[in-house]
Amino acid sequence: MTTDGNLAVNISQEIYEEFCEASSKFPEFASDHEGYAVILEEMDELWEAVKLNNKRHPERDEKMRKECIQVGAMALRFIHDMEIRKRK
Ligand SMILES: [Mg+2]
Repeated sequence: MTTDGNLAVNISQEIYEEFCEASSKFPEFASDHEGYAVILEEMDELWEAVKLNNKRHPERDEKMRKECIQVGAMALRFIHDMEIRKRK
């Protein structure tokens, strides 16, 4: 399988932008447990999108993409907040 580095960088940028937007609205994760729960909630939303029927829900791909970006952003937030806590 080939990979497209530019595509991956562009997607990473979207994840970063989602991370910034979420970080402007919500405080840092209070604990690892909260971070896990938030990622799990986004995973549940991704799963709901995955289960949609393609033909009846033409928006399925866009929903899956959106939820994947949010999963990525919350995973980034988890790592980010963990590193920040280590500095304290
Ligand atoms: Mg979501």
